[in-house]
Amino acid sequence: MWKQFRKFSSSSTAKEKKWDALIIGGGHNGLTAAAYLARSGLSVAVLERRHLIGGAAVTEELIPGFKFSRCSYLQSLLRPCVIKELELKRHGLKLLKRSPSSFTPCRDGRYLLLGPDKELNYSEISKFSKSDADAYSRDLMDLLLAPASKVLNNWFETEVLKATLATDAVIGSTAGVHTPGSGYVLLHHVMGESDGDRGIWSYVEGGMGSVSSAIAAAAKEAGATILTNAEVSKLMIEDTGRVHGVLLADGTILHSSFVLSNATPFKTFMDLVPDDVLPHDFHNAIKCSDYRSATTKINLAVDKLPQFHCCNLSHPDAGPQHSGTIHIGPESIEEMHSAAQDAENGLPSRRPIIEMTIPTVFDKTISPSGKHVIGLFIQYTPYKPSDGSWENPVYRESFAQRCFSMIDEYAPGFSSSIIGYDMLTPPDLERVIGLTGGNIFHGSMGLDSLFLMRPVKGWSNYRTPIEGLYLCGSGTHPGGGVIGAPGRNAAHVVIEDFKKS
Ligand SMILES: Cc1cc2nc3c(=O)[nH]c(=O)nc-3n(C[C@H](O)[C@H](O)[C@H](O)COP(=O)(O)OP(=O)(O)OC[C@H]3O[C@@H](n4cnc5c(N)ncnc54)[C@H](O)[C@@H]3O)c2cc1C
Repeated sequence: MWKQFRKFSSSSTAKEKKWDALIIGGGHNGLTAAAYLARSGLSVAVLERRHLIGGAAVTEELIPGFKFSRCSYLQSLLRPCVIKELELKRHGLKLLKRSPSSFTPCRDGRYLLLGPDKELNYSEISKFSKSDADAYSRDLMDLLLAPASKVLNNWFETEVLKATLATDAVIGSTAGVHTPGSGYVLLHHVMGESDGDRGIWSYVEGGMGSVSSAIAAAAKEAGATILTNAEVSKLMIEDTGRVHGVLLADGTILHSSFVLSNATPFKTFMDLVPDDVLPHDFHNAIKCSDYRSATTKINLAVDKLPQFHCCNLSHPDAGPQHSGTIHIGPESIEEMHSAAQDAENGLPSRRPIIEMTIPTVFDKTISPSGKHVIGLFIQYTPYKPSDGSWENPVYRESFAQRCFSMIDEYAPGFSSSIIGYDMLTPPDLERVIGLTGGNIFHGSMGLDSLFLMRPVKGWSNYRTPIEGLYLCGSGTHPGGGVIGAPGRNAAHVVIEDFKKS
């Protein structure tokens, strides 16, 4: 079937040998899989299409001196076993814990701080409602099945508390707070830990790319080869139906009987697998999977910290309000609902939900002294807005300015502190990072796409209908986030099958 492709004839020995396993994509999951495979003695090469590894867990210096966690920005989900087994701390992983971890300024001049400190939480929530302070605990089953709004309305009366907590329920999805199952995304975001502290999200020194670099260092130490600027354009399938290698975009052919794909299931099966080799039902299920997204990330370089007027503080140093995730915008469940409704109607939210983070409060390695890096995780921005196009620089700029003006309402002068920014809308996330539809999780984390249904019913064990082809990215169980579990789990399945081969 693939005889038409010329044999690669480069001097690079890395490309000429037959590998035990090849991995398409150097996201953190592909790198994790590589590390486990190499540690089991397999010869393994990772093929990353970009000029750098990490996928959505990446650090990029886009403005001289300012290093951005360009996509993901906080760590909590990375499985403790991956950190331990791959010795990621020895390979440079350094977590910077945040306390308080969340700050919500209000238009009425009040604010809410939350974090790991129970006493702080009690006194902060009591400013709004004593009964909410008493009720601040969690019931996991409710979270799994119900709309986040139902759970939060049952528990609490303080709108700003509910809005703050609800952000984690809608993050990265097109769902609103009233959508059944939105509680699961909230659960997914509170189930992590940092150095043993549950539910705590940390910054990573050097940005999220340091997670990927530490995993890559573990993989290389075990003998894995990592190639960048190596885009896979097709999988090579024998007439028997078994995988036997990959074809790179530059015409190079690499041979292996085991190929793991860290690309999205959609990309893998709709683009990389040749036509007519997949069972019809499987092909259809992948084709119809939900990759909608309404997430935009803006990374900013600024010359001073935002000064929130509700804090009555005006000095250049960082305070507790700067240390965690700063929630800007909707201050009630209903305002969050209207932000989602705008997107339902095809429009970017008039008052978007903005999660602001300022990693430079803790991490002095990623900006020039006295200056700061700010990340804005923004919803909702439809992939194809009905009133314009993300291709249009004027349209893009006007949406960015809408976000900056909203921040000015709470922190006057913020806009004038901006030195420069980078903006990734859903089509940019697809083009630059390779996230189908701009979906940050490699496919929706709705109840119909989890557990045994991820990526599609019947194929949750990392194997695929093509013998020798495996999935190892966020499109598989347990899903998105900088978590490492799909890569680790897939590697174990491959090792099992390799031993039998
Ligand atoms: C804006 C944003 C913010 C986020 N925030 C957080 C957060 O704070 N914390 C968190 O835990 N999670 C966050 N996430 C989610 C998390 O980053 C992702 O779910 C996770 O990083 C995906 O990892 P992965 O290794 O499975 O895939 P990816 O990181 O998507 O890696 C896949 C890799 O495959 C490569 N590739 C694709 N096709 C090919 C090909 N044909 N040939 C070669 N290479 C190919 C891509 O270039 C990419 O490097 C965020 C995501 C985004 C986009």
